[in-house]
Amino acid sequence: MPEGDTVFQVAAQLHTALAGNILIESDFRVPRFAAVDLTGETVEEVVARGKHILVRLPQHTFHSHLMMDGQWHVYGRGTRWRKPGFRARAVLGTERVQAVGFDLGIVEVLPRETEADAIGHLGPDLLGPDWDPVVAAGNLMREPERPIGLALLDQRIMAGVGNVYRSELCFLRGVDPATPVREAGDPTAWAELAHRVLHANRNRTPRVTTGDLRRGRQLWVYGRRGTPCLRCGRPIESGTLADPSDVERAERVVYRCPGCQPPR
Ligand SMILES: [Zn+2]
Repeated sequence: MPEGDTVFQVAAQLHTALAGNILIESDFRVPRFAAVDLTGETVEEVVARGKHILVRLPQHTFHSHLMMDGQWHVYGRGTRWRKPGFRARAVLGTERVQAVGFDLGIVEVLPRETEADAIGHLGPDLLGPDWDPVVAAGNLMREPERPIGLALLDQRIMAGVGNVYRSELCFLRGVDPATPVREAGDPTAWAELAHRVLHANRNRTPRVTTGDLRRGRQLWVYGRRGTPCLRCGRPIESGTLADPSDVERAERVVYRCPGCQPPR
């Protein structure tokens, strides 16, 4: 699942390509919205809310989510697509460009005024104008027995942390991801750290949490199982945290350093 900073960058790219332009092509390749036609409408803006991407038009909001494998590509009109057409879920075209969403997890066109219903369950957006660490901290404390490594992924608490950052944040705080929220330290400090790290990476790829841009040294623990901790030298471990309600379990390996993040 993409992190909030990735979604932020995708939305910014779509905004640059589409905002202020009239759609001459709209094609939603999901049965429920196949008949919807947005041509003639002008794109006002494209924004990210958590991991959701909203294309706002005067009457409608086109809502999409990348989920596991989704990608948006922007092509000059007439340019050959880099992915097969059957994987396209949505196409928005202006005179100059085509924005093509491949393998999107959510594709829906909503009346503009009901947009909040689709994403209203989100907590404060780490990269949005509504960011509020106090609200996020309060949300975090609502389920104090929950492991911090699961709570960080819950987009209702704060929106934007994915699998990479939850491991990195736990490392940076020196906390085992299995630690209950109530024992994991100041919740506001968690929220502020998450904001700092995502904000620092909002216009940058690859993402860096160590401050070291060299390949293989950009992240503290994520994806580094068996390799020495960059801080203490002990081998990084990986595992999973059980969550029966988790629909994306397949991807949810969490990483930790047994030296820097001792179990409680
Ligand atoms: Zn370590």
